[in-house]
Amino acid sequence: MHNTSKSEMELKYVPTICPYCGVGCGLNLVVRDRRLVGVEPWKRHPVNEGKLCPKGLACNQFVHSADRLTTPLIKKSGKFAEVTWEEALGLVAAKLKATHETYGPNSVAFQVSCRVSNEEAYLMSKLARVGFKTNSIDNCARVCHGPSVTGLALSFGSGAATNPLADCMNADCIFVIGSNAMEAHPLAGRRLIMAKERGAKVIVADPRYTMTAKQADIYVRFYPSAIIPLVNSMMYHIIKEGKEDKEFIETRTKGFQELKTTVTKYADVEDITGVPTEAVKEVALLYAEANNAAIVYCLGVTESRTGTDNVRSLGNLALLTGNVGRPGVGVNPLRGQNNVQGACDMGAYPNVYSGYQAVDVEENRCKMEKAWGVEGLPSTPGLTLTEHIDAAGGKIKSMFILGENPMLSFPDITHVRASLQRLDFLVVQDIFLTETAELADVVLPAACWAEKDGTFTNAERRVQRIRKAVDPPGEARADWEIITALARELSVPGFDFSDVEDVFNDMARITPQYGGITYARLEKPEGLVWPCPTEGHPGTPILHVGAFSSPDGLGTFFPIDYVPPEELPDEEYPFVLMTGRILFHYLTGTMTRRSPTLNAEVPAGYVEINPDDAAALGIQKGDSVRVKSRRGEVETVAFVTKDIPKGVVSMPFHFKECPANRLTNTARDPLSKMPELKFCAVAVEPAYKEVSETG
Ligand code: SF4
Repeated sequence: MHNTSKSEMELKYVPTICPYCGVGCGLNLVVRDRRLVGVEPWKRHPVNEGKLCPKGLACNQFVHSADRLTTPLIKKSGKFAEVTWEEALGLVAAKLKATHETYGPNSVAFQVSCRVSNEEAYLMSKLARVGFKTNSIDNCARVCHGPSVTGLALSFGSGAATNPLADCMNADCIFVIGSNAMEAHPLAGRRLIMAKERGAKVIVADPRYTMTAKQADIYVRFYPSAIIPLVNSMMYHIIKEGKEDKEFIETRTKGFQELKTTVTKYADVEDITGVPTEAVKEVALLYAEANNAAIVYCLGVTESRTGTDNVRSLGNLALLTGNVGRPGVGVNPLRGQNNVQGACDMGAYPNVYSGYQAVDVEENRCKMEKAWGVEGLPSTPGLTLTEHIDAAGGKIKSMFILGENPMLSFPDITHVRASLQRLDFLVVQDIFLTETAELADVVLPAACWAEKDGTFTNAERRVQRIRKAVDPPGEARADWEIITALARELSVPGFDFSDVEDVFNDMARITPQYGGITYARLEKPEGLVWPCPTEGHPGTPILHVGAFSSPDGLGTFFPIDYVPPEELPDEEYPFVLMTGRILFHYLTGTMTRRSPTLNAEVPAGYVEINPDDAAALGIQKGDSVRVKSRRGEVETVAFVTKDIPKGVVSMPFHFKECPANRLTNTARDPLSKMPELKFCAVAVEPAYKEVSETG
């Protein structure tokens, strides 16, 4: 029994970073008697300046949940049994080793959540490559901002946000497209409002009249998926009016003539976008004529089978007007999870090592082999996350899922379930028994962010420290400790780390962007923004100043034509389904639905439907309805609102009782492999309860 000492009864404040969205707000966890008792915003933090959104303010609430996993579990005769770490890790090591020896390197796949720290994502990447000689490791950016990584790298040479969030204050015009920042990234939304109050014009383009759209000076409602024609048409009008930045185009870009030829076809796009020509022209000129104009976007742009092209279109727009490489401009994706930037930076990606060093470049492979003390690293990129699912049971026999929940977050979850069940062996490491963990052969209990040290990298490329405030429950361990223990069980060399700082240093020595970052330097509230290549380097908040990060230093225009979504509405499935996030919940609800404050705000899912559509179907607000697609159906309740256009319905994807991703389409972007999560055809009908014979 634990006897509480006098010092333990005193309040302690442990500075760390919010575990939810990619804004990366600083906060203090308030600890008393070894338990979290509250959260206090970090007043001097440069990102949130003493403010937090509802999720941040309640981020302590799931930590001591009675549902936390506390012991390793092995499925025996279809039921989970509690076992020792020794037994669980022994079985995981034996099974993964046997799969590898029997079927070869690419028969084992690794999936990494963007919730884990940089150090943990790096270790998983190292284990896959050194221990199993496979590049089939990927992270959940694949189903959120994969197209940003690919698209921005192609356009500008670096697949990351160009400017810090606070830099909105230097913009005269902010073009927000496909982002409901006020709900999904509230402290980024705050920056938009502050910029507007200072005099910046805020344009919000979105099919839904969101909480963010309601803050705009100009709201542009466009048809879902019509980003390319909308942006091409904006560029047509900018060029026609002679408002392009000729000097910037001449000195800092290539490919302009091809772009110009393509956008000539997009003078009038009202049929495809629903936006009248005059309105397109108005926002185009507002953006082009501003001294400094910034673009902010999110999943409305990326979650499409043309996601990479959508991102490159925004890159084209910024290049055309010279809005890259100085304060108050740029192209800025709002990243979804706390460490989605970091998980990509760390090489938990099938085609690159940490720092985006391509696996198919011999020089890079030699560098990593030398640093890691191994030979024979694979030279071909591995499979992506969604390809893992398709290959499960075929080419892929065993899978290690670290902190992800594809059973709610991937498209067509009936297909996901069938695929995972075809595996010979599935191990899931998580903090709760998620819908995915329920399918596992072995479940490893992990510490949550408040129970470990490490670093996160936010959407601005800002690397920040997280700090342990309380002990993990039961026998749960930090992810990095579990991975190193497994590596030792497998006799994989290079995993003798004394602590997590040691892991960071192992990564930083081979990752150019992080080369000058140390834990000591991260003690400052503002952390460090990569690239920070040397010890004395101050970090780089604004990218592409003077030259782009591409090998020739130029930004690239891409001529991009419109391709419609794969599955259009028809007689049988007459509505377009969009999916999205809401203010009080986060991803698959694993943490927020166990936070009493957040769950009390929105305890259940719903479908938004326009009043005219609802009336035509005989549906009223609060009625039970059935939403059906070619892949399945869910029952939920109707939320009738003019905020959604006719012919479109929208569902948050957080709720396991009515999982929106049972309906969504697996069609993929050929470049980034992003699925078309924001567009599929559905039918909606009233759901009448069947009356039993006995009444
Ligand atoms: Fe956390 Fe994002 Fe809210 Fe900041 S804006 S408190 S990082 S959820």
